[in-house]
Amino acid sequence: MPSDKVLVIGGGPGGLEATRCLADLGVGVVLVERRNALGGMPIQASYAALTHDFADAEEVMNKMIADIDNRSEVSMRLGQEVTACEGEAGNFSVTLTGSGNGSAEKVEAGSIIVSTGFDHFDPGRETQMYGYYEFDDVITIADAEKMLKADKFVRPSNGQAPERVCFIQCVGSRDRRLGNEYCSKVCCGIASKQSIEVRQKVPSAKVFIFYIDMRMYGFWEQEIYWPAQEKHRVNYIRGIVTEILKKGDRLIVRGEDTTMGRPMEVEMDIVVLSVGMEPSAGTKAVSKLLGISQDRFGFIETPHGSLDTVATSNPGIFVAGAAAGPKDLDDTISMAGAAAAKAAAFVRRGVGAGV
Ligand SMILES: Cc1cc2nc3c(=O)[nH]c(=O)nc-3n(C[C@H](O)[C@H](O)[C@H](O)COP(=O)(O)OP(=O)(O)OC[C@H]3O[C@@H](n4cnc5c(N)ncnc54)[C@H](O)[C@@H]3O)c2cc1C
Ligand code: SF4
Repeated sequence: MPSDKVLVIGGGPGGLEATRCLADLGVGVVLVERRNALGGMPIQASYAALTHDFADAEEVMNKMIADIDNRSEVSMRLGQEVTACEGEAGNFSVTLTGSGNGSAEKVEAGSIIVSTGFDHFDPGRETQMYGYYEFDDVITIADAEKMLKADKFVRPSNGQAPERVCFIQCVGSRDRRLGNEYCSKVCCGIASKQSIEVRQKVPSAKVFIFYIDMRMYGFWEQEIYWPAQEKHRVNYIRGIVTEILKKGDRLIVRGEDTTMGRPMEVEMDIVVLSVGMEPSAGTKAVSKLLGISQDRFGFIETPHGSLDTVATSNPGIFVAGAAAGPKDLDDTISMAGAAAAKAAAFVRRGVGAGV
């Protein structure tokens, strides 16, 4: 007997939106999240403010969680992971195992939505030219979110307000040596957003962004990039940073100003590395368990082209959000709605399985 339930794996923005849409359509959902809390990376990594309105990240995610809380259609499994999957589209039998206690449960589902998200690139994996693990004042955009959330954007080395802050773009992305040739899509916008926040919190600080080229469009360009330059006086410098060194209690950023075509050496108090997005460990593990194909970077493939952006290589299994590649919230939420519609159509009428 086919199951009319959908299993959603991952309780971040993508999984929460897919769950809400399915519940609104009257479809039963089992939502499984490996951590003991919902909200995905914005909660796990303590992000401060989210676009569009620089809204408090916790408030935004709590609103999404409230939208699925106590819904008769939704059954939640926190602190659990998928450890096995048998059967096929319409009749999946999935084993969930408690992350802490090892307890196991079988769940029957007609369709599955994978929304297991991303991890931040670890700058320690790169050659040590940025000195992330060497110098306290070299941080990542994820570290910057934590500091902005705590309303304490100060130099980690001495607790003082910074006078000069710079962002280095494309760390761990667009880098063939690392095997990450792809653009992480969000980090130009996020560095620009954080620059605005730094200028607001520490108005005396000068802020610079060193970029190869800035990649933004739509909202990010109109509402973040241009105001960052024109209203908040953030300095964008086209350049390549080759080395970060320590001089006294300051950092020296060395490289080339590629617009002027000359070497560059500037002092900074805080250097923020705009680390890219990589597939999460959960994304890689779940792909293998479900037998769905991944691209060469480990993100989940959507092999059916532009006309079906959520079906995976396995009928009845759909993907939403950053598990399928770097995404901002707008793209994650749109994809989750599409995945929910397809999964609902499949468990209700057996159509749209992605074959
Ligand atoms: C520093 C930074 C700031 C950002 N700020 C913004 C912003 O202001 N605006 C914006 O539009 N975007 C922003 N983004 C992007 C945004 O964070 C992502 O678009 C969003 O988090 C993607 O949601 P997701 O649900 O796909 O993945 P995630 O948020 O990664 O959630 C995935 C969830 O799946 C769970 N999971 C993983 N594996 C398993 C498993 N095996 N079993 C069960 N559960 C599992 C994880 O624990 C997690 O809860 C930012 C990104 C970064 C790096
Ligand atoms: S979004 Fe910007 S910083 Fe991020 S990888 Fe693409 S070009 Fe580089």
